[in-house]
Amino acid sequence: MISPLMPVYRRSDIQMVRGEGCYLFDENGRRYLDFATGIAVNALGHCHPHLVAALKQQADTLWHCSNLYRIPQAEELASRLVEATFADSIFFCSSGAEAVECGIKILRRFHHAAANPQRQRIIVFEGGFHGRTMAGISAGGNEHAREGYQPLLPGFDRVAFNDLAAVERAVTPETAGILLEPVQGEGGVRVAAPAFLRGVRQLCDRQGLLLMLDEVQCGMGRTGTLFAHETAGIAPDVMAAAKGIGGGFPLAACLATARAAACMTPGSHGSTYGANPLAMAVGNAVMDIIYDKKFMLNVREIGKILQESLEAISTRFPARIETVRGTGLMLGLKTRGAPYALADALRANGLLTAPTAGDAVIRILPPLIITQAEVDEAAMILEQTLAEGN
Ligand SMILES: *Cc1c(COP(=O)(O)O)cnc(C)c1O
Repeated sequence: MISPLMPVYRRSDIQMVRGEGCYLFDENGRRYLDFATGIAVNALGHCHPHLVAALKQQADTLWHCSNLYRIPQAEELASRLVEATFADSIFFCSSGAEAVECGIKILRRFHHAAANPQRQRIIVFEGGFHGRTMAGISAGGNEHAREGYQPLLPGFDRVAFNDLAAVERAVTPETAGILLEPVQGEGGVRVAAPAFLRGVRQLCDRQGLLLMLDEVQCGMGRTGTLFAHETAGIAPDVMAAAKGIGGGFPLAACLATARAAACMTPGSHGSTYGANPLAMAVGNAVMDIIYDKKFMLNVREIGKILQESLEAISTRFPARIETVRGTGLMLGLKTRGAPYALADALRANGLLTAPTAGDAVIRILPPLIITQAEVDEAAMILEQTLAEGN
């Protein structure tokens, strides 16, 4: 049968019909431990009762009214994000790519408003991923994602990740800012060194550039702090957040300091669905749970246990797994050879993971609510799958 869906995904034939906690169930009732979470989206697992209740209540009250009116749930969520982060000002939208797009626009418009319109170029990184819009693929490091879409958006200068000297060399009088992921996701779970992040921040301050972070994948508690940059002791000027922030409901945000956001005026940007009450209700419910010291501490602790367990297994299969990398519950198994066959075998044995072509890595992105029992189950399946010769 020819699918009516545009063939932009290589899909498996499995149909997931239900989710509960850390598990997904297919049409045959088969259960999978979900350590992919729709690529770091279902941060609280599937159908978390608190999220379901918030969505149901809002569904009975008001779905959409547009940003032409005040939206109290949006003001509440924005205030909470302001309280919890570096930011003073929040723009809500529905996907990571849109949040990135908003940030890129702020970087350029900031200098335009400061009477430096020549500053419109943005330094980006090899292995970077910033979504599928024209700006996103132009900023991203994936050649394949750009193929056939020329002309790309001009104004991006790409340098090696974690290489501060290369960043310094790339700065010109036309540079507006620097855009990077503190932990590259699609690029293969590559963690920015804290010293690199601090160096980039200092460079921005010295040169009058804006620092924009893309925390769409690594943010919202995934690495054990609300946002990944916190551990380096720095703050960006602009940041994109999405994925985990809605726990499975389409929600994203662009966060900015008052200084960076001052250039954004009525009519300069917008989104029909941005700050939609359904998304806001779920976003507030996600914050209720994730923005909690004990919750975050648990992510760090269980993440360490999971990482040690993966490392112990990988040392027994050095021909298959080279290293375990990552931080918190954003982990990656660097495989020898393509990661897809092993990911398929893991799925056949009941464990879902998220392989990425970037650097041959199988991403391990469990719900942030996992316990020792899920760690043990995943370890058992991995060990068994490798022992079968996969
Ligand atoms: C997923 C992702 C995006 C794009 O998010 P969409 O919701 O798919 O548009 C952007 N940046 C990073 C780092 C991502 O992981």
